[in-house]
Amino acid sequence: MTLLQSALFGFGALATAGGAFAAYVVWGPEDVSSSAPSPLNSQVRTGRMSQGVPGQASVDTGTASSSELANLTEARGARGLGENALDGAWGKFQTGDYEGAIVQLRAEFNLRPGDAPLQANLATALFALALVKVKAQQFAEAEKFLDESARLGNADAARTAASLKLKLGAVDLASGLFEELVDKAGQTTADTASLKVLVDVSLRSDDLDRADYFLDKLSPDDPFVAPRRTRLERKRAFAQVQDTVERGGVVEVAFADSIPRSLANAVAQAMEEAHGELAQGLLGTVPSSTRLKAFLYPQKDFRENTDAPPWAGGLFDGLVSIPVPRTRNATEETYLARGLARIARHETTHAYLYAFCGDVVPSWMGEGLAQKMEGRRASSASIELKKQGNAWAGNSGLLGTTPALDRPFTEASGRDVGRLYAQSFLLVNHYSRVHGGLPFWRGLLSRVCQGRESMTNVLSAELGEDGVASALWQRDGQAAMASP
Ligand SMILES: [Zn+2]
Repeated sequence: MTLLQSALFGFGALATAGGAFAAYVVWGPEDVSSSAPSPLNSQVRTGRMSQGVPGQASVDTGTASSSELANLTEARGARGLGENALDGAWGKFQTGDYEGAIVQLRAEFNLRPGDAPLQANLATALFALALVKVKAQQFAEAEKFLDESARLGNADAARTAASLKLKLGAVDLASGLFEELVDKAGQTTADTASLKVLVDVSLRSDDLDRADYFLDKLSPDDPFVAPRRTRLERKRAFAQVQDTVERGGVVEVAFADSIPRSLANAVAQAMEEAHGELAQGLLGTVPSSTRLKAFLYPQKDFRENTDAPPWAGGLFDGLVSIPVPRTRNATEETYLARGLARIARHETTHAYLYAFCGDVVPSWMGEGLAQKMEGRRASSASIELKKQGNAWAGNSGLLGTTPALDRPFTEASGRDVGRLYAQSFLLVNHYSRVHGGLPFWRGLLSRVCQGRESMTNVLSAELGEDGVASALWQRDGQAAMASP
């Protein structure tokens, strides 16, 4: 999202925040609690396992049900074969040695491929290992184990695999997996969680018929449905009155017919230019399938058509949306065109960071890079911080109290967001100067987004302070404010 600049008709500084699908509730590792228990699954859910299982601390403390333990005993008892191997695997699993458990279970399973409890145990061990990898931000590894666990029938692994792909920006792939889950669930036990993901993904990619189709499968009494129906109707209504301009086969801008075409052209041109700069400078490559779609809404309709907070000057949530104030004459129109072009460059940066990296780029870096592309000056950011009192400047002891810099900006209060944006821009601007500009960020992003290294590890290696933004600001804030 974009910080709405006072340049746009003196509306005063408002702020926005947030990554693409950050606010969007999808199944994550922490949601994993299987409805289809397999012997080991209940162990995972009950948190009785070793600390190795990530994110399970908050789950219920019940014990594994007798039938599941019976399964395990039956699996061991009835066949007698490989008893030691199963016991060994169980022991390893209990101590959090999932790799060890998997080796033994896999060897046993190769001998008895039709053994359902064994298959379920292997799937659960793979799933538990995948959760460990997700926690460590080793997403490529996690995907591998999740995909195998899902192929072996673990429904939670299938759902987690789909939501991880969404987090990593593979929207089409994730949609396909969620749709498979919906089909598998069939009519009786509708997989409402996956249906809801599909509704939101369809709305955010402006696929209205698809959103309608999945909404119909949900109970109209579900509180999730009414606001989405309203959103869908508004988008359909907007489609009736919209016009579009296209550029370079990459950018499409839809705008309400009350908005001058010259403004839509200015936005499309800015997005096409940003596309070129990002492709060459920041990312070094552009996913071939990337299509940038933007919507220009009359200011009054902006909030009801988007999820944007009241102080938003632009939004990317899978699509770029920009509010356009009314203009009274050609001069104002020309002036506004420049302001909208800056917002368009900002949101295009978010679009590319999401297409290339999914949601693994922390807010401070995403907003810092987007403001850099927007053309923000260090002076305006420093003034913003000074306005909020020097407590935020460099080496003040008070700085320790700004963990908000490490959190998604969607969580920030309107009062804090202006400061968070200024700090983010100044940090990115400072590191660009010290480490050699866009190539530095390209190198960092390619290691994380393509090499699938953990963001924390790479930031820590490149910038130090364990990659923690508030600690980086504490160390470099003053130098960053002095950077031109
Ligand atoms: Zn932004």
